[in-house]
Amino acid sequence: MCFRPTSVDASVVCPGCGKKVSSLGGITLTACPFCKADLKDAQPAPDIAAPPVIPPAPPAQAPAAPKAPPSAPKAPPPLS
Ligand SMILES: [Zn+2]
Repeated sequence: MCFRPTSVDASVVCPGCGKKVSSLGGITLTACPFCKADLKDAQPAPDIAAPPVIPPAPPAQAPAAPKAPPSAPKAPPPLS
């Protein structure tokens, strides 16, 4: 196996403003672009690639199914 972390986006959370700072292209940011805080003590951003799965809520009102049988044509009313 040859594992080469070439294009890993190492994101850190700025300790100053709390923004997520992404270092693209392997460039390690040393200062926050937002508040100029030193990022050497920044914590790695948590991996939020998998958001919590929220099951879809059931519909409040189910569509009313027709009660009439599909193949039972009613006799036409007698014409007077
Ligand atoms: Zn900042």
